[in-house]
Formats: sequence, structure tokens, C-alpha cells
Amino acid sequence: MAEKGIKTQDWAAFRAEAQRMLEAALDQMQQAADRPWQPVPDDIGARYAVTAEALGPQAAVDRIIRDVLPYHGGNTHPRFWGWVQGSGLASDLISSLAAAAVNANMGGRDHGANYMERAVVDWTRARMGMPESASGILVTGTSQATVIAFQAARLRVLKDLRKQGQGAVRLTAYAGEGVHNATLKAVELLGIGSDNLRMVPLADGKLDCAALAEMVASDKAEGAVPFLVVGNAGTVDLGLFDDLNALADAAAALGLWLHVDGAFGAWTRIAAEPYRSLSDGIGRADSIALDFHKWMYVGYDCGMALLRNEEEHRAAFAARPAYLEGAERGLAGGEPWFCDYGIDLSRGNRALKVWTALETYGEAAFSEAITGNCELAALMAAEVEAQPQMALGAPVVSNVCVFTARRDLAPEAQSQVNARIAQTLQESGEAVFSTTRAGGRVMLRAAITNHRSREADVRAAIAAVVREASK
Ligand SMILES: *Cc1c(COP(=O)(O)O)cnc(C)c1O
Repeated sequence: MAEKGIKTQDWAAFRAEAQRMLEAALDQMQQAADRPWQPVPDDIGARYAVTAEALGPQAAVDRIIRDVLPYHGGNTHPRFWGWVQGSGLASDLISSLAAAAVNANMGGRDHGANYMERAVVDWTRARMGMPESASGILVTGTSQATVIAFQAARLRVLKDLRKQGQGAVRLTAYAGEGVHNATLKAVELLGIGSDNLRMVPLADGKLDCAALAEMVASDKAEGAVPFLVVGNAGTVDLGLFDDLNALADAAAALGLWLHVDGAFGAWTRIAAEPYRSLSDGIGRADSIALDFHKWMYVGYDCGMALLRNEEEHRAAFAARPAYLEGAERGLAGGEPWFCDYGIDLSRGNRALKVWTALETYGEAAFSEAITGNCELAALMAAEVEAQPQMALGAPVVSNVCVFTARRDLAPEAQSQVNARIAQTLQESGEAVFSTTRAGGRVMLRAAITNHRSREADVRAAIAAVVREASK
């Protein structure tokens, strides 16, 4: 009887196709500057229609090279600064091959990848200045890390939450204006309710701790249970940082759990001054959410939740039905298991890409790249200010530069020009800015989390803006 099912009959041919794929992937990365985003063809959906026929590896590789590689999201290009996106590392090609070969399930058990994740957590914990007793887990991104952190925070005030639910208790949380939508989503998802997330005004670009104390007192007087304050290390719109030391003091005085959203800005911890001190005090947080896929440049997806107190971390998530019981020896050993620290049971191997990146380039290269990105944002601001018709929407604090191309126009006309310029430069492949609203108008926005960007890129992009602004 013929062999049935999935089989690779011809390893020599498969090897050749896999190597062809590797070469194409290497070309794509090496030539990233020549391959900007381009609009997808009209028939892209049809091109991807699943045929479910066995066409073999050669056909698959042909089609990936023709229909997949060209239609990327642009974020590997040196002049991509839209939203906050990471640029992806060549080392990801190595780590993703190795990860596929091992196919580790990181939920638990006794195998190497889990020890590597612990090492990556420990390296990150130390960089953030959290104590050795802290714990952490790699997750999809800051959005998921935020849910994990808030759940642990909630358990601190509602010990029976896991069994009884939140009931009629009205928990209230606090965050500075400009906090990322991930905080709102987490509050909604956990059933805390967005009405119970208070937006605290900023003073001098930082959460106003006096206003926070007043809001907490008035909520308490109304019978609510204030439990959480979210500090920002890098707001998404403007790259602002709260005074995390002041916030840690305020949180302690008010009995609140301090969570820091450090999605990208936490990495100023390994930057040079003056950027490093922006995140001073971050290690005093009860929890930190951060991403590797933004300002550590590793491929999507990869974030981390760090919790100061491992007991509290486990209290929120540990649960092991009989079929998952651990053992002293054998494959069911290897405690503690990561499934007890987060939402997922089955988990992919995110540690390997972080580890490979650090092994390949070394921490100092990341420090330089992060510092360099802030310097490029400062350069962009200087280029903007040198243009009489352009103006900054806000001072540049870290790696985010927001500006208008035509300050001489009325707000509505400025909005139209800025939006048009963003689209035109995206479509021409010259540069990717996104837009945001500042001072009642749409502005161009660059968030530089891109290790491929150089001074010449910033100058060329601003020159292109100037050109388009005069049209
Ligand atoms: C991107 C971002 C998030 C959300 O992170 P994901 O990794 O996309 O889930 C949260 N906060 C800030 C400040 C961000 O920039």
C-alpha cells in the first residue's frame, strides 16, 4: 500500500527550494532601501485564494517570491516612520529558521526553549531595574501584557476574583491623558468598564500627581475602589514620559498598583543620556508592559509583561488541570511553566528571536540604534524649524516628531495639505509618515523606531515634504 498523508518524498528538491527561499529573504532584507511599500494589486485577494492542491515546494516558493515578498507593510524601509512600528532584523531570518526546526511549545515542560525565555526575561528585568524576584513572560505585545498586568493588579484588591468575579465592586483606574488605547481595551475586556478609567490631566507633559490624588479621593468618597494607575514611558502620539519616580511615590501613598506602559519608551533604559533618564524610576513599577517588536526592532510579534512580585503574577494565572500536572523528572518537569504566568497554554518561541538578535549584534548596538533614533527625531525637528512654512506640533522629547508642512494656512487647509502629503509620499515610496491631530489640525507624524534610518533619510524626507507642500 502506498504511503499516505504529508510526506517530503524528495528531500534534495525540498532543500533546493528552501535555500531559494532563504536567498530571496536575504535579498529582501539586504535591499530593504530599494523596496518601499507599494499599493497592493487589485487582484491580491484572488492571488492568495487557497487552492488546497498539492503544487509542491517549488510552486509555493515561486508564488511567495512573486505575490508575498513585494507586498509588505513598508516597515522594513529606512524611511518608514509611521505609527510606531519596528523595522525587523536580519537576525530574525536565522532565528525563525531555527524556531521552525524546533517547533517549541512554550507552555511548559522540560526543554531548552523555556530556559532561554527565562534568560531573556531576566536580561530584560535587569535592564528595567526590577528586582531579581520579579517575573515575566513573553506575549504577543503590549496589548496582551497590559491585560496580564491589570488582572494581577485586580487580584491584589479582590482576593476571590477568580472564583467570584468582580460583582458589584466598582474598581477605578487612572492614566494620564494620551494613554494608549491598549489600556482602555484591557479595562473593557476585564469588565472594569471604560467609565471607570479616569483620564488624569497632564502638567508640563507629565501626569499631574496632585490631580491624581484629588481624583482618587473623590472616587473613594463615592464608594469606588481605586486600584491602579498607569504611567507612560513614551506616549504613542508624542513620545512623552511621565515622571515615573514621582508616580511611584504617588502610587505608594495612594495604595495604587503602578503599571507602566513602556511599549517602546521603556527601551530608553538602554539609550544614552539625555534619553535614558526619561524612564528613570521605571523599575519601581508593580508591572511593566513593553515590546521587542517596536524599539528592539525584532520581528513581529514579541512583547513582555514584567511583574514585580512573582507571587502576585502566579496568583492571577496559575491553574493546572490533571492532564497538565508537572513531574519531578522527565519531559513533564521543568517547573515553573509559562502557562501559569499568562493567558495562553500553547505558546510560540518568541525568546529565540530576542536572544539571537542580542547574540548577533550585541546590546551596545541596540543602545546606539535607540539613541540614534532619538537624535534623528531631533534632527527632523531642526529641519522642520529651519523651514519658514513648517512648524512643530509639539516639542520633540524622544523619538517622535509631529509637525505641519504649512503653518501659514488656516487649520482646515493645513489638515488637508498634511494628509495629502502623507498619502503622496507613501505612494511614491519616498517616505512613510502617519498623521495625528495636534492643536486642532491633522499633522504629519514620524515615530522613529527604525534601525535602518540615517541622517540622509531624514533630510531627503523633509525635502520631499517641502516639495509637496508647495504644490
Ligand atoms: C504600540 C503601543 C501599544 C500597544 O502595543 P502592541 O504591541 O501593539 O499590542 C501600547 N502602548 C503604546 C505606547 C504603544 O506604542
